[in-house]
Amino acid sequence: MRKPIIAGNWKMFKTVQEAVSFAEGVKGKAEIEGVESVICAPFTSLPALTEALKGTSIKIGAQNLHWEDQGAFTGEISGVMLKDLGVHYVIIGHSERRAYFAETDETVNKKVHAAFKHGLTPIVCVGEKLEEREAGQTKSVCKEQTDAALKGLTAEQAAQTVIAYEPIWAIGTGKSSTSADANEVISYIREQVAAAFGADTAAKIRIQYGGSVKPENVAEYMGQSDIDGALVGGASLEPASYIQLVEGA
Ligand code: PEP
Repeated sequence: MRKPIIAGNWKMFKTVQEAVSFAEGVKGKAEIEGVESVICAPFTSLPALTEALKGTSIKIGAQNLHWEDQGAFTGEISGVMLKDLGVHYVIIGHSERRAYFAETDETVNKKVHAAFKHGLTPIVCVGEKLEEREAGQTKSVCKEQTDAALKGLTAEQAAQTVIAYEPIWAIGTGKSSTSADANEVISYIREQVAAAFGADTAAKIRIQYGGSVKPENVAEYMGQSDIDGALVGGASLEPASYIQLVEGA
């Protein structure tokens, strides 16, 4: 049985004070037995957020990491540093990072390995652009990105990975994939995991949907056979909305 996972991706939003006040608002509320609740915050808010959510079941995630442990990489943050802060999850290969910061399938794979090296769970984003969808390439794009991201992992590591299927045209646009379409792509991604790592790993790996998920539609996605949760941007920024997302899962 896969535990549903709701992860908020705050992107480049919230000061430290705003993050702490969010934490006060969700404590004891976005904590529901049987649902994993994760907040992926900007690096600057991670220490305060870990402190503010200490003793709760809400886990903290980062939105990126560098694959090296340390070195001359100005502006970067490593897995060692995240682990030191008490972070559990890290988003890797979000489409905004692939589009604006030149992330490639190769760097995504290096980052996934770095995450495991430091005991962090990667949330790996895959998904097609609108033109790829229109050209009928959704599944081939997702297969390529998934295979590349998981390359070289053990079956046990692959099973622990979280994949977020995020059609790029649905992120922050208010347009969402239908739950049936999202489920079809997610089942296909699961089949690719089965082909690479075996049926047992495929049955364990959690695959989220992401793209304009909100309190009003989260339950519909969660009702699908292969969707194990959601990666949520805009609707994760306010405590009331985030709590409803966790409740909806
Ligand atoms: C995201 O940032 O991963 C995302 C899915 O954003 P939104 O929910 O705002 O579409």
